[in-house]
Amino acid sequence: MDLTFCGAAKIVTGSCYWIKTGKTQILVDCGMFQGSKKTNRRNYEPFKFKPEKIDYLFLTHAHIDHSGLIPKLVANGFSGKIFTTDATIDLCEIMLEDSAGIQIMETEHENKRRLRQGLPPRKPLYTIEDAKNSMQFFEAVEYDRLYNINDTIEVRYRDAGHILGSSIIELFVKENGQKKKLVFSGDIGQWNVPIVKDPTMIDEADYLFVESTYGDRLHEGVGLRNELLLKYTVETFKKGGKLLIPSFAIERTQELLYSFNDLILSGSFPDEKIFLDSPLAIKATEIFKKYRKYYDKEAKNEYEHPFTFPNLVYNHETEDSIKLNNYGKPCIIIAGSGMCTGGRIRHHLKHSLWDPKNTVLFVGYQAEGSLGRYILEGAERVKMMGLEIIVKADIRKINSFSAHADYPELIKWTQSFTEKPETVFVVHGEEKSAMALSDKLKELGFDCHVPEIGEVFTIGES
Ligand SMILES: [Zn+2]
Ligand SMILES: [Zn+2]
Repeated sequence: MDLTFCGAAKIVTGSCYWIKTGKTQILVDCGMFQGSKKTNRRNYEPFKFKPEKIDYLFLTHAHIDHSGLIPKLVANGFSGKIFTTDATIDLCEIMLEDSAGIQIMETEHENKRRLRQGLPPRKPLYTIEDAKNSMQFFEAVEYDRLYNINDTIEVRYRDAGHILGSSIIELFVKENGQKKKLVFSGDIGQWNVPIVKDPTMIDEADYLFVESTYGDRLHEGVGLRNELLLKYTVETFKKGGKLLIPSFAIERTQELLYSFNDLILSGSFPDEKIFLDSPLAIKATEIFKKYRKYYDKEAKNEYEHPFTFPNLVYNHETEDSIKLNNYGKPCIIIAGSGMCTGGRIRHHLKHSLWDPKNTVLFVGYQAEGSLGRYILEGAERVKMMGLEIIVKADIRKINSFSAHADYPELIKWTQSFTEKPETVFVVHGEEKSAMALSDKLKELGFDCHVPEIGEVFTIGES
C-alpha cells in the first residue's frame, strides 16, 4: 500500500493521510491548514487524491485542523463513509458550519480587495450548504470495538484524551497475505486533566504516526492551572481591568469553566462576572453536557453541573458582546477564536489591547503567523481590522491548559509499545518540535522519520 502525507507534516495543521491499497482508498483525517496566509492558501490547492475514489474517511476528532476540509471533500465528489465517535459527529456539525461561515466572510473581504485590483472574485472554499450536506456521510463508532470495514480493512478507535470524543485510530490492513497495523495517534491529550479521560496506551503497531505539537516543550503541571488562573485574575482586577482569554470553543473553554467553577466553590475567587462570549463555545458546551458518558471519574462524581455557576454569563447575542466594550467593572471575557484569527475576541482586543489595565491570557497553541502568536511573542504594535493598535495590555500564558501532551508525556505514550514499530512517523508539529521529538525517540531506539508534505511511503509490497 502507498501512504501519502497530505498535510500536518513539518507543520501542525492540515492533518490528512491518504492510504491506497490495491482495493481500497482511505483517508485518515481531512483537516484544514491554519495559520499564515501562505499556509491558508494550501486549502485551495486541489486534493492530492480523487475525492470520488475515496471509500472511507476515518476521523480522529472534531478540531478543524483534522476535519475542516470534509465539506470540500464532499463538494468535490466524495460519497463514502466517515467513521468517528458520536460526540465527534455532534461537534463536527457545529464546527463545520462555523468554519463555512468564516470561509464566506473571509472570501467577501478578499473579493472587495480583488475587485479594486481588477481581479476576478474568488469562490469561498465551501458554503454552509456544503457543511450541512457532509453530515449525511458520518457514521458513529464506539471506543475499543473492532470494526470489520471490508474484507481487508479493520479499524478500532481508542480514547485519545485530547478533546471530547477524540480518538487514536488503530487501522489493520490486509494486503498480499500480510496484515499490517497502522496506529495514528491523532492528537494526544495530557494526563490527569479534568473532564476527559487519560490517553489510551497502545501496545502494538507496525507503523506509528505520532503527533509532535509540543515535541520540544515541557508544560508546567496541570495542578498549577487554577493557581495561575487565580493569580492572573487577581492581578488584572487590581488594575481594574478586563482579563481576555482567547479560547478554542471545544475542550479548552469547558476546562476553563471547570477551573473557574472549582475556584469559585473553593471561595477564593473574586466576585465578578465571567462572560462566555462565543456562540460556538456555548453550543459546544451543550454537547459536553450531553456526553457525560465520556467524562473521567472526577468530572462524573464531583460536580452535578460543572458548566453552570452563578458568576457565569452565556453571551449569545452580538449586542450583548458589544455592550462589554462599555462594561465598567473588572471581568473575565472568554471568546474565540483561540488564535485570534477571527471571532469576537478580535473586537475585544481592538478595544482592550492598548490599555495597560487589561490582560490577555493565552491558554492554547498559537500557530506561526497567527495574530495570537504575534501578540504572545511581544509585538509592540499589531495590525488588525484595518487598524494599527499599540500593545500595552499585559500578556500572560498558561501552558498547562494545552490539550496536547508535552514531550515527556509523548515519550511515555510511545513507550507503551511492547515491540518497537518498524517506523515511527513524527507528524503534526512544526519542523523544530518534530525533529526534537524524533531525536529523543531515536535515542530510545526507535526508527523515526519526519516526513514532508506530499511524501509517499510504500508499506509492504505494493
Ligand atoms: Zn486537536
Ligand atoms: Zn491537531
